[in-house]
Amino acid sequence: MEYCKVFLKPKKEESLLRFHPWVFSGAIQSVEGEPEEGDLVEVYGANRRFLAIGHYQIGSIAVRVLSFTSIAIDDAFWVERIRTAYELRKTLRLAGVETNNTFRLIHGEGDNLPGLVIDMYARTAVMQAHSVGMHYARHQIAEALKAVLGDTLQNIYYKSDATLPYKANLGSEDGYLFGGEVEDIAVENGLKFCVDWQKGQKTGFFVDQRENRSLLEHYAKDRSVLNMFCYTGGFSFYAMRGGAKVVHSVDSSAKAISLTKKNVELNFPGDPRHEAYAEDAFKYLEKMGSNYDLIILDPPAFAKHKNVLRNALQGYRKLNAIAFEKIKPGGILFTFSCSQVVSKENFRLAVFSAAAQSGRSVRILHQLTQPADHPVNIYHPEGEYLKGLVLYVE
Ligand code: SAH
Repeated sequence: MEYCKVFLKPKKEESLLRFHPWVFSGAIQSVEGEPEEGDLVEVYGANRRFLAIGHYQIGSIAVRVLSFTSIAIDDAFWVERIRTAYELRKTLRLAGVETNNTFRLIHGEGDNLPGLVIDMYARTAVMQAHSVGMHYARHQIAEALKAVLGDTLQNIYYKSDATLPYKANLGSEDGYLFGGEVEDIAVENGLKFCVDWQKGQKTGFFVDQRENRSLLEHYAKDRSVLNMFCYTGGFSFYAMRGGAKVVHSVDSSAKAISLTKKNVELNFPGDPRHEAYAEDAFKYLEKMGSNYDLIILDPPAFAKHKNVLRNALQGYRKLNAIAFEKIKPGGILFTFSCSQVVSKENFRLAVFSAAAQSGRSVRILHQLTQPADHPVNIYHPEGEYLKGLVLYVE
């Protein structure tokens, strides 16, 4: 097949030779042909040397690389990439085991498929395209998923309305590509969750906190727990299973609170230890007493772009400062940032300032990150986004 060709400026091939999967528009010298957003293009360096093939985009990232060798991007390609990713999840003992059927199957660049996210909830795959190229490939990807997962797959829900570049003006294509309307219960480390992939946030559940929730369970015994920004209640059930005295789940979204309540009923029907409140975090934190000795702060990304970084860091500082001020002596704080533009160092600095403001003695017990089913491609360090600290507050 003949593709349009993108030629790089002299010396701009360096990052591709080191397998970084993006070509920035500023690196392009010339383009042969007239590629449209989402088309496959070939990338060449000096002396017309082939460097990569990938999806063309209009914007600062111009090409997202699918392969650094000249191969066909055909049905076999998708099957091979998805199979490799699935084998890794089996190695991680997240797939093909009884106690867990909730995992991220494809994590974009981390699985050498930039622009594609697929989360698995029992027999349902939720697919999210972040690029027009992946959007166009969605049916091919769906077929590959069926080929790799076989009978264990019964639904594929496509959900990209919020993630595709809006300038591409594609209109909503969200809906089932396969199956449909199967009520599935997701299981994570033996705990059950209803996942609303159609109306819920992201793909319906935050799969990336699995290991951090497990760690929390380990610390929960006899503690009074506040799960702030609880969404569907993930941390709360681990705290309950870990023997917490009381667990309070708070989120500003009434929908999230109703999902949390539903999930409590699934796991601990009628358990009086749990209460849930639909309230703004800052309001709740300001007026609460000093009764909690285990607090989770897992806010939404405060900074989605570099230019709002300062405000985001202030937000993290303010939020954590109240927690430091109010947590009981001997308390444990799990605090997170999922903003990709906030570095580990910056996040730690914001939390450090908050601690200093409270004047309390604070130790770092654990430094947390995303789990292995959200792998970071070693050539694409930008893929690391989740940061967490577990702190002991005297
Ligand atoms: N901890 C969750 C994921 C949190 S996502 C889990 O383990 O699944 C962030 C959540 O913060 C969302 O559910 C969103 O509704 C909530 N949120 C956003 N702004 C908020 C605010 N000002 N106060 C309270 N909750 C807020």
